[in-house]
Amino acid sequence: MSDLSELYQQVILEHNKTPRNFKKLELFTHDADGYNPLCGDHYHVWLKLDGETITDIGFQGSGCAISKSSASMMTASVKGHTVKEAKELFEKFHSVIMTKIGDALPEETIEELGSLGALAGVREFPARIKCASLAWHALNAALSNSQTTISTESEKN
Ligand code: ZN
Repeated sequence: MSDLSELYQQVILEHNKTPRNFKKLELFTHDADGYNPLCGDHYHVWLKLDGETITDIGFQGSGCAISKSSASMMTASVKGHTVKEAKELFEKFHSVIMTKIGDALPEETIEELGSLGALAGVREFPARIKCASLAWHALNAALSNSQTTISTESEKN
């Protein structure tokens, strides 16, 4: 298990160091801002949809290694896929990172997640779950075409 954790850590560090799709799209159909005030993670996500397919996606901003690597993996995972597939992937990802400590992780789902499965360990650090899901919430906000900044803390205030 420690070998696996180490491998996962390598994946996270590598995406943090060399984030995929780390660019502003000049031509886009949807965009949204995502902000996690608890950690200071702040990203903007741009999408280009052709019909129901996400043909291009980019993000920019700054934050911790978890949030940045998660945004990088999110963009790489949904690019070229349909909106429906992206939403299904988010549901799977969310179910994994929200798995209670002590409950068995859904191994099959983690396999389906590919590199995103590397973030499964954040479930042990509740404050980090918001870092890991921030880019996904921004993606959802962009797909809903909401132009406002989504904040992980907005529902509490
Ligand atoms: Zn963070």
